[in-house]
Amino acid sequence: MSAPVQEREGGQVTASTAMKYVYFFGGGKAEGDGKMKDTLGGKGAGLAEMTNVGLPVPPGFTIQTEACREYMRGKLSSEVDHQMNEALARLEKLQGQQLGGGSNPLLVSVRSGAKFSMPGMMDTILNLGLNDESVEALAARTQNPRFAYDSYRRLIQMFGNVVLDIEKHHFEEVFDGKKKQRKVKLDTELDAKALNEIIAEYKKVVKKHAKIDFPQRPLEQLVMARDAVFRSWQNDRAKVYRRMNNIDDMLGTAVNVQAMVFGNLGETSGTGVGFTRNPATGKKEFWGEFLMNAQGEDVVSGVRTPMPIIQLEKIMPAVYNDLRSITTRMEKHYRDMQDFEFTIQDGRLYMLQTRNGKRTGMAAARVAIDMVNEGLISKDEAIFRVEPNQLVEFLFPRVDEKALKAESVLTKGLPASPGAAVGQVVFTADDAVAMVQKGKMKKVILVRGETTPEDIHGMEVAAGILTSRGGMSSHAAVVTRGMGKCCVAGAGDVKVDEKKKEVRVAGQTFKEGDWLSLDGTTGRVIKGQVPLLPGDPNDPLLSEFMRLAEPYRTMKVRANADIPRDAKQARAFGAEGIGLCRTEHMFFAEDRLPHMRTMILADNEKDRRAALKKLLPMQRSDFEGLFQAMDGFGVTIRTLDPPLHEFLPSRESLLVEIARLEITKPKAPKLKQLRKLLERVEELHELNPMLGHRGCRLGITYPEITEMQARAIIEAAVNVSRKGFKVLPEIMIPLTASLKEMKNQADVVRRVADEVFREKGTKVEYLVGTMIELPRAALMAGEIAKEAEFFSFGTNDLTQTTFGFSRDDVNKILPDYIKLGILKQDPFAVLDQEGVGELIKMAVSRGRATRPNLKIGICGEHGGEPESVKFCHRVGLNYVSCSPFRVLTARLAAAQAAAEEKKGLSGGATK
Ligand code: ADP
Ligand code: MG
Ligand code: MG
Repeated sequence: MSAPVQEREGGQVTASTAMKYVYFFGGGKAEGDGKMKDTLGGKGAGLAEMTNVGLPVPPGFTIQTEACREYMRGKLSSEVDHQMNEALARLEKLQGQQLGGGSNPLLVSVRSGAKFSMPGMMDTILNLGLNDESVEALAARTQNPRFAYDSYRRLIQMFGNVVLDIEKHHFEEVFDGKKKQRKVKLDTELDAKALNEIIAEYKKVVKKHAKIDFPQRPLEQLVMARDAVFRSWQNDRAKVYRRMNNIDDMLGTAVNVQAMVFGNLGETSGTGVGFTRNPATGKKEFWGEFLMNAQGEDVVSGVRTPMPIIQLEKIMPAVYNDLRSITTRMEKHYRDMQDFEFTIQDGRLYMLQTRNGKRTGMAAARVAIDMVNEGLISKDEAIFRVEPNQLVEFLFPRVDEKALKAESVLTKGLPASPGAAVGQVVFTADDAVAMVQKGKMKKVILVRGETTPEDIHGMEVAAGILTSRGGMSSHAAVVTRGMGKCCVAGAGDVKVDEKKKEVRVAGQTFKEGDWLSLDGTTGRVIKGQVPLLPGDPNDPLLSEFMRLAEPYRTMKVRANADIPRDAKQARAFGAEGIGLCRTEHMFFAEDRLPHMRTMILADNEKDRRAALKKLLPMQRSDFEGLFQAMDGFGVTIRTLDPPLHEFLPSRESLLVEIARLEITKPKAPKLKQLRKLLERVEELHELNPMLGHRGCRLGITYPEITEMQARAIIEAAVNVSRKGFKVLPEIMIPLTASLKEMKNQADVVRRVADEVFREKGTKVEYLVGTMIELPRAALMAGEIAKEAEFFSFGTNDLTQTTFGFSRDDVNKILPDYIKLGILKQDPFAVLDQEGVGELIKMAVSRGRATRPNLKIGICGEHGGEPESVKFCHRVGLNYVSCSPFRVLTARLAAAQAAAEEKKGLSGGATK
């Protein structure tokens, strides 16, 4: 943006080349064009472009975004008013009218429009220029008093709401009251007299709530409306939308002032919206809705039911054909599916807006492929036409939106794991299993305050999970995403009473067996049974789109999978190996937990080894399954990581049970066992378990655990490779911070591996490496790489330890941090590139300085988040690893990152 230039001429200062604030469009030519979205906003640039290509656009002018920025700083230049008045005079001349004056008054709309479309964020004012006098002139000239009064009451209503901040319901009450009084259903059934009465009452509403009279001077209306649009950039809805979509708060909005055309002039007038292709399926078909004798937002507001656009062909064939050919032209011109608005005034068509249309993931893929085939766009462009996150839509059941009633939505929680589920409510994991196994319920929704590892069996059988606490990286969220199961987490409005077995939400109570539906894609909690549409990983459209994107990708994508079933699933989604197998998940199974507990309760090495021996064959068979599923691809297996207390019952539940037994069966042998268990639970208790006795620290104090696991892995590898599979085990030591820790555990693994090779008489290739999940590990990466043959960034813990945030409790702080702008996003969901990312870069370069061919990946939640995946590509990781259901997303993000690099784009920046 160039600053205003002051010219010096003969000692006099003039502002002849001052900043251009106002851009005119009309009479077949515009001062701006479609590329000027930064300056004119999306809408203004679109209006300019449409004017330039000769489309029927009502003329007007755009006040550019710099004026909004000045307004926010409290320094609006007087030059803005000056240029606006000039443009208004030019518009009046072109139209042969005067704003709100004379026998043929000019009326205008005042429309906001930022660089990125922010639907519904800032309201438009129509019919500006009407007042007590000009409304009569309009009535006389059109010989249609009903139309004139209808336009005036709309202005007072919109102006009152948007400019004067009067809540909408005050106007709606007057309007609905009048309809009742006249015993009519439709707005259009109110006659001129009724509308005139409404105007009088609207004015009273304005006076009462804004303490001023509705302004009668047209120019005053215009200035007030313009400033309100500037202010609306800062309203809460707009701020939230920008935060969600990562749009820069400093961009500001433009203001468009445009001559009105009227769709409410009678039965040969109307207004509508449409898409050049079906935004739900992407199919190449004309799609839209319209209403006759209506204005502006009537179509989308739901007051009257609009008609499908095809019917316009019957009512006004010429207008319909015009509209089709114009929108087809626009689509070719913009080379993307268009979303457009039009108005018909007395049988004449006007275009009011066009922009690239929002669409579902499926539609995005369909449109991208079709447009390549139509020769409209290149493959390089096509792969960016689908947002990586949208691909999960193909894999999950979805809510059939057509069948969903708005009033059934009870509340919204976090969209923790996508997809949709319908089921009967249960409140404990045991109940979930019991109900499903006994066949009492087919599908259950497990409702919990929050879930713990002990709920896994219930989560397995549930169709979906709903929790009232916990964030996007809570146990419920992480586990369900891994399972590809729908989850709505942290729904604060949902009050769960696990004792009474009931849940209260939106003033309604649901008991065990009642039906609920969840939409994990949007976070909606829905009453009753919503019809679902199924997902399909082999969808031909998905495969076709991936064939377009895959050739660009250079970074590998692996999956996090703990059991053979998930590994197979991941292969089906295109995973090239397993980046994280969490062995502890194998210990939670019903047949294993007792051995695990015996192992933990043992007070000497001998007993511990005896218990571990029982676990060995079970682990080995799991690993065999994984190796077979991943034939030819690497499988990274992490040695035991969580603190041991996670495998034991909680102290509270033990105390309760002991107290109960002391009264009922004081002599029961079980009591003695429980007391011993309690003693051990108390011994294991730590104040900060996440910083406690876990990770490699466990394997260092109890080397027999690492020994057993190394043996299970290597034996499985030998067995499976004998069957002819290609096996590539990578044994990963968690939570190291130093070379000595790494060496301690690597020595155990290598010693056991050599033993197994001797016993079996064969060898397999394997690697020993580490997770980098402590800042010290990143700092010491050069040292650690002397022993570690690979690194994998455990960015969940690395984020936790870098910020010092407990990831299980961060939701107490996070909402405020985001609201206050201290953080832009949840760092557990989107990698903190500037902080945690810096540690990653450091560890990559220090590690590779020691060991140039060091294999490096990431296995935290971030491995499936598109911006984080792109970052991983840029810093040179060999692979990302994510939950199976995010593999597709990661593959597309990695392809886009490579394509961006090819094009020399930086990417990852804020919009
Ligand atoms: P949004 O960004 O919310 O779509 P718009 O500025 O596009 O807001 O306007 C809202 C409605 O008013 C749309 O239906 C649009 O077509 C209509 N509208 C805007 N300006 C005019 C105008 N000059 N004449 C007739 N209708 C208009
Ligand atoms: Mg619009
Ligand atoms: Mg970890």
